Amino acid sequence: MPESSAQMIKPKKFRRGLDLGPPHPVAAQPIKDMPAPELLHVALKQHQGRWCQPRVSVGDRVLIGQVLGESTDPLSAPVHAPVSGEVKAVDNRLDSFGQMVPTVTIANDGAEEWVRPLEDDPDFEKKKVSATIRAVREAGIVQARTGRPVHSLLAPPERPRSYIFLVGIPVHKPIKLLIANTLDSEPTMAANRRLFLENAADLALGVKLVQKIAGVKSAALVVSDDIGLDSPIVRQLSGEGLAPLAVRNRFPVAWDELLTTTVTSREVPWPGGESRDVGALVLGADLILGILDAVRSGRPQIDRVVSVVGPEMSPRNLRVRLGTPIKDVLAFVAGSFDRAAKIVVGGLMDGAAQFNDQVPVTKMTRALHVLGRRDLVSFSEHLCIKCGRCVAVCPMRILPNVITNFCEFGRFEEAAEAELFNCIECGCCAYVCPARRPLVHYVKHGKAEVTAMRAAQ
Ligand code: SF4
Ligand code: SF4
Repeated sequence: MPESSAQMIKPKKFRRGLDLGPPHPVAAQPIKDMPAPELLHVALKQHQGRWCQPRVSVGDRVLIGQVLGESTDPLSAPVHAPVSGEVKAVDNRLDSFGQMVPTVTIANDGAEEWVRPLEDDPDFEKKKVSATIRAVREAGIVQARTGRPVHSLLAPPERPRSYIFLVGIPVHKPIKLLIANTLDSEPTMAANRRLFLENAADLALGVKLVQKIAGVKSAALVVSDDIGLDSPIVRQLSGEGLAPLAVRNRFPVAWDELLTTTVTSREVPWPGGESRDVGALVLGADLILGILDAVRSGRPQIDRVVSVVGPEMSPRNLRVRLGTPIKDVLAFVAGSFDRAAKIVVGGLMDGAAQFNDQVPVTKMTRALHVLGRRDLVSFSEHLCIKCGRCVAVCPMRILPNVITNFCEFGRFEEAAEAELFNCIECGCCAYVCPARRPLVHYVKHGKAEVTAMRAAQ
């Protein structure tokens, strides 16, 4: 008898990783809209795939929701104008990952004029699945941590990632369980939690819609154990087809692959696997609500909820238009690049430090962390003392000390054999290492060297 989707829920405790403490006060802050700035730099690469080809030129007037750029690459997502105004430049600019990417600069005219009025379609639930997936793809919704366009997770018929080809025969990998994730990766990030708490009814509608698209009967609603299963909001949502599950939010259990194992007790094959390989689809609250908006009213992704945390400022969760320079976000929360010792875009564990305050907010910006001088720790690296702490915390159950020793001394093929590519670069090992070894840097360096060596062969 085939396994039902509800039977797939077999929770398993996530014991590795790190306990980074209780949620930061930012988790209690409601989401506020930040006014759009006067000048926006909208990057044409805010996703995993190739950058988009510009569809506008200098001098054009653009309206909100108008396509600024698109690409035929299935791992790219179209980019839309977040404000109405005039295109001032189409050139290469720095993004928060330190890359030069084609960018459209728009002078906001403040008219807030949409390319077409946003109206809810009362019959959106009756749309055909193909039309629904097309609406999601056209909306350009992107998973913030990985940059993966959400339509590629839903397996569009045009590029069936749901198939593997085994001796020429397509083998279907159906989705059996939807996992609605309301966890945020780190305590200082709160977009998913706030979107869930503030839009519970819409989240339930969105879950039903995704269940229809994916053809799944059951879904697990994963909430942080500090919210608990007895909270009125969770009780209101739980019911037929939606099973709530409280998970202790140890870093990095909120990452799709690890959450899949925690909910289903099934291990996602790695490297290169995805939750779908074991029959699960993990979508954050932000993605589910984005899908609902795209199908119900045709709203594209033009903004992103960003948690802003730092000294001498109240923590905030802001809905920021894409393309807003981080300088303007900091000015809005009374912060400044000059006073900060370091600014990190993304999580404190996996984010990127910035040297330029003009980089724009993108679909992949989950948080802005401002660090004061006292938050910075300077240290020098020592030899590995073989304490084994890195091994104990590694969520991928590999040997960070062994791998990084190989990488340090240029023995890259041996590092690859020791499962270098199984590392998900979460940083847990470096966090606990008493010798302060830059373990993730060694891993990244090793992966780059092995990739280059294999390409040259
Ligand atoms: S080796 Fe990789 S996966 Fe393991 S703890 Fe370190 S960074 Fe994380
Ligand atoms: S935690 Fe650091 S010192 Fe300890 S075994 Fe791992 S790399 Fe070596």
